[in-house]
This record gives sequence, structure tokens and C-alpha cells, in this order.
Amino acid sequence: MTNLHYPNLLAPLDLGFTTLRNRVMMGSMHTGLEDRFYNYGKLAAYFRERARGGVGLIVTGGISPDRRGWLLPFGGTLNSVFDLWNHRRVTTAVHQEGGKILMQILHAGRYGYQPLVVSASAVKSPISKFRPRALTEKGIESTIRDYVRCARLAQRAGYDGVEIMGSEGYLLNQFLCARTNLRTDRWGGSIENRMRLPVEIVRRVRAAVGTNCIIMYRHSLLDLVDGGNSWDDVVAVAKALEQAGVTIMNTGYGWHEARVPTIVTSVPRAAFRSVAARLRRELTIPVVVSNRINMPAEAEDIVHNGEADMISMARPFLADPDFVNKAATGRSDQINTCIGCNQACLDHTFANRRASCLVNPRAGHETELIYNKTLKKRRIAVVGAGPAGLSAATVAAECGHDVTLFDSSERIGGQFNLAMRVPGKEEFSETIRYFGRRIELTGVKLVLNQRVSRAQLMAQGFDDIIVATGIRPRTPPIDGIDHPKVLSYIDVLRDQAHVGRRVAIIGAGGIGFDVGEFLLHDPATPLPVPVAHWAGEWGVDLHAAPDSGNGGLTVPTPAIPVRQITLLQRKTSKLGAGLGKTSGWVHRATLQRNQVEMLAGVSYDKIDDRGLHITVNGKARLLEVDNIILCAGQDALAELMPSKKTRSGPRFHLIGGAALAAELDAKRAIREGAELAAGL
Ligand code: NAP
Ligand code: SF4
Repeated sequence: MTNLHYPNLLAPLDLGFTTLRNRVMMGSMHTGLEDRFYNYGKLAAYFRERARGGVGLIVTGGISPDRRGWLLPFGGTLNSVFDLWNHRRVTTAVHQEGGKILMQILHAGRYGYQPLVVSASAVKSPISKFRPRALTEKGIESTIRDYVRCARLAQRAGYDGVEIMGSEGYLLNQFLCARTNLRTDRWGGSIENRMRLPVEIVRRVRAAVGTNCIIMYRHSLLDLVDGGNSWDDVVAVAKALEQAGVTIMNTGYGWHEARVPTIVTSVPRAAFRSVAARLRRELTIPVVVSNRINMPAEAEDIVHNGEADMISMARPFLADPDFVNKAATGRSDQINTCIGCNQACLDHTFANRRASCLVNPRAGHETELIYNKTLKKRRIAVVGAGPAGLSAATVAAECGHDVTLFDSSERIGGQFNLAMRVPGKEEFSETIRYFGRRIELTGVKLVLNQRVSRAQLMAQGFDDIIVATGIRPRTPPIDGIDHPKVLSYIDVLRDQAHVGRRVAIIGAGGIGFDVGEFLLHDPATPLPVPVAHWAGEWGVDLHAAPDSGNGGLTVPTPAIPVRQITLLQRKTSKLGAGLGKTSGWVHRATLQRNQVEMLAGVSYDKIDDRGLHITVNGKARLLEVDNIILCAGQDALAELMPSKKTRSGPRFHLIGGAALAAELDAKRAIREGAELAAGL
């Protein structure tokens, strides 16, 4: 039956031998659970929730066909019948919920962070310290056999098919591109030779698994690195893969080592849809588009326009396992939207930690963080409607408690209200919208514009008082700090204080960088930044002219800085070193492109009418600036907490920035709130 809300996105996809219930795919996302046999119960629970949530097709995190292909030592591998039992737990869980699941076969090639790495040629990657060995002819043949065995085992484990990972710069992508394939034998040189390995793998896997098994191939449409493939080559490879037996063509954008962001929040939504559309016109099999699609309206529009047959979303299913069911029943306003921050998913993966989600701490912890209905309803006050308080209040109410949420401000969201004003961080408003709806749906009583005292709370007879009052920006003790030139980041981001052309920013943490980006935004450019503008800034050739080379890279549009900014810190380390692993470089590159001067090892001497006086490397220097913006961290605001524990009266709990301002962090705040509320 046609869905009234998203008729194209939620229409079934007939593959001939099988039918997918809709065109929404949960793309591959490495959680870390797939790497250890004892975590497969947790992995099965994680996928079960997503299948129950209505998604049409799931793809697992990457599983290696052999040891040489490991991303990390002892990473998830499927090369023996002894692995089948674990994988069957996953496939059974998904099938019991009416879903379908493919296992991704991922050979990391030179991206492996382990000593056995191999590649097309012995060219070291900038993101792994291990130099690969070039595969010999014999090694190539055994690798093909490993893929085939892995696919057969996946079929025996109950998977509906496999996805062969050929993009993001992994082994098959390394064979495909001249950047990493320097071979002169039949596996290197011309594009016909460079594509021989992926095409041969698909052909032999198809022969082994038969016709009634999905083979999806993830193909790199834009490599976004020097020495990447031209559009003509990309199309030629796709056609050969289709001929060799691919059922569905998934698409990828950018190698992991690319210096163009492709998934962080500042990448415009659905930025690559036009590129997928161009490939779709060349093939007869279904094409999937991915990257920064996080809400059903865009996804529907893409399928409706015929730009792709399926939409892949990976992180959005960490954020909300029920995404499809909510969309299908007209409840898109209840979707917990992925904000593209990477803080709890990819940043964890790259640090070899279990992936989760900043806005949904249950992701990857489905068997550990459970919101059970309470048997003993408690009256709970939550003070502070920032991320920690919102999470605690809504989870407590979902568990059946009677919750009142207080905030002295006129709106919920706390620091997220500042973050969403930063260009490229507009998505943060979605989290505020989500929590606003959760408050309505769970019946939390919301009291805004009211600063409550401990005495008032005590008088109202609450059983529990959760103090989530957050932080106060730190004012560093610098001579002249009261000068009118000095503003706090709150004056700038929230209160829109006038800021002059020459600016010094004291403090180079996340907020110092955010303020830098805010002040560099040219008001003539609309927000969110349009795709074409973003592509120009980063030098991405989205139009992929037929003979365009170099993996879709073009010359970036030169930046014309609207302000002259100096960003400062006292530490001698690189500025921005503490930012997220997968997003920090994007912030640094943005400021560098706008000629921001970054100074480390600074001591602040004084502020006067002339500007900010500093000492760097023993030399005194004057920064003649119009304004000095303080982004010097925060102090905790926890005055509501009693100074000592009492035996009677309500229980007090302290969470979020109020508990630990030095590590103010929305990921910790939301998780702490949820864990506390689930355990009350
Ligand atoms: P932060 O990351 O702790 O940075 C505070 C900055 O202030 C540091 O550069 C520090 O450098 C400086 N500072 C500290 N005490 C100072 C003092 N007494 N005088 C002068 N400078 C001082 O804090 P934040 O920037 O306020 O960010 C808060 C949190 O928000 C972060 O922990 C982060 O998780 C999150 N956040 C992240 C992002 C992102 O990743 N893009 C963006 C926004 C917010 P020195 O001590 O070296 O001078
Ligand atoms: Fe999305 Fe951030 Fe959650 Fe990752 S941690 S899934 S990027 S919201």
C-alpha cells in the first residue's frame, strides 16, 4: 500500500528474486561490537532494534575476508565455519523483525592499522603508520578466493547478501586509482587493468553465491584525492561491475585521507545527490545515494526526482532506530536527528572504542541502557533544560516518573542554542526540536523563565532533585578585562553584540573555533550554506565533467576574509588539538583558509584602548584589535547542591557541565542524564 507521507521513499523495491520493504537503507557503520565474538549478542540487539524500526535493508559494519584485510589487529573476520554461529545471531534477530541484512566485506588494504597490511603497491597511507606490501600475483589470487569464501560463509550465516566495500580509499579503491596503484602488470596501468581486481571479485562471488543473493558494491564516485579517478573511469568501472553481477550500486564520496569533509555537520544536507543521479543515468541496476541525508523529506525528494533508487543513512540510525516507523506514520517531528557531530560514533571508532551516539546514548548499548517502566513513581525536579537536564527529564518521564523541568531562560536547549547559531552547525536546532517534542509526549511539566532556589524546591516535596544548571563562562584574570572592547562568547553568539573588523579570541577550544567561524561568515551568503557555495569553498567538482580528472577535485574559490582574526591559547600545543579527530581538521582548515593567525604559548599581559598586549616566545607584542572575545572555558554552576548530605529530604544528583565544567561536553551530559534517570 502506498504510504501517504513518503510515497516514493517507502515504496517497496523489487529486485526480481526478492523485494525490499522500502528504499531506506541503514548503511554500514563500524560499531566495534563486530570485532569481538563475545559482543555478538549486543550486536544482534542493536540490529534487532533497527530492523524493528522499519528500515528496508541493513548493512553490517566492515568484516574482513582475511587477516591481511584487518582494519585493526584481530578485527571482525569471516573466514571459517566457526564464525557462523555468531553471525547467525545477527541475521536471525533481523529476520525475526521482518528486515533484510547484508554483511559488508571490507578489506582495509593500506588503511589497516596493523603490520600485515597489503595494497596494490607499497605506497604508505598518510593515516596509518604501517607501510603496505604490494600484493604478488599469488597474493591477489588468494585475496579473491578469500572474498569468495567470505561471501559464501555470509550466505550460510543467513545474510541476504553482501556489500563489497570498494570506496573510501580501502583496498579495492587502492587498486582502482593511479594514486596508489603503480603496478605495471595486468592489475595496474590502464583503467581496464586497475578495475580487474574488483570486477573479478564480483564475478567470482556471483558465481559462488548464485543468482538469488544480493551483491551490493560501494563504488567511489568522487575520490577527492590527487590521483583519483576521472568521471569517465568511474562510469566505466560501474558498468563493468554491473556486468559482473552487482545487484545494487551503492556510492561513496571521498577517501578517508581526503582533505575535503564529506560527512561532518558543515557539509550541506544531501550534498552528493547530483553525483549519484549522474551515475544512475548510466546504469540499469538500482543506485543508492549516501552522506549527510538525515531526514525523510530530503530522502523522499531524491527518490521522487529519480536521482537515486535508495537512500543510505548510517549515523541517522544510531540516532534513532525508529526513524522509518516514525516517518511512515507521519511523526517525522519525533525523529531524533543525527546532527553530524561524529563525537560518539566515528570519533569513537577511530579511537578503537565502541561507537554510540551523542543524541542517543542507547546506541550500541541496547542491552545495557534500558528505559524500563518504574514500579515506584517518584516526583522529580530537574533544574536546567540544557542537554543534560533535557535528557534526564525526558528519560525519567518515559520511565513513568512525575517530572518537572525548570529553566531560568525563556527556551530549552542551553548551550545548544549557541551552537546552532554557528554557520555549519544549524543541525543542532534539530536536537532542541526533538527534546521539545519529547517533553510534550512524555508529559514533563516545563517551567521556563523561573530561577528556582533550593528552598523553593525543598518546599515542593520532590523525591529527587537533579541539578543540571550547567556552567558560567570563565573570566580570566587579565589586567583590563573590564575594558569595553572585551566581550564574552555569549555576548557574540546569543546577544549578537557588535564586533569590529579586527578581533582577538582568547581561548582556542571548541568554542574559540566556533566563534572564529561565526565571525568569518559573510552575511551575503545564506545559511545553511548552499551546496554550490560549499563545493566552491572546498574545491569539489560536483558536476563531474565527462573528462574531469583528479577524483573530483577542482581549484577552491579563494576566501575573502570578512575579519582579521587572531586566535590564542597559553598551551604550546597545536591549536585545536583537543577537537574531535574526524572534525577538528575541518575547523582548522576553515580558519586557515580565512587567514586566521593562530598563536600558541601566549601569555596575556593587559588590555587597554590600543588592544591586547601579549608575550609570545619571550617577545612582547601588541594586537591592535577592535574587540577581544573571551572563550576561556567555563566554571561550574552548582549552587543548588547542598553542602553536605542529609539523611532526610530529597536526594540530590549533579550532572552535566554543573558536575564537571572542565569537560563540558554534550555527549557526556546527555549520557549522564539518561543513565541517571534510567536508574532512579
Ligand atoms: P575548552 O575546550 O576547555 O577550551 C577553553 C580554552 O580556554 C582553551 O583554549 C584554554 O587554553 C583557554 N583557557 C582556559 N582557562 C583560561 C584562562 N584562565 N585564561 C585564558 N585562557 C584560558 O572549552 P570551550 O572552548 O569553552 O568548549 C567547551 C566544550 O564544548 C569542549 O569541551 C567541547 O567538548 C565542546 N565543544 C566542542 C566543539 C567542537 O569540537 N567543534 C565546539 C564547541 C564546543 P589555554 O589554557 O591553553 O589558554
Ligand atoms: Fe550523528 Fe553525532 Fe550521533 Fe554520530 S554521534 S550518529 S554524528 S548525532
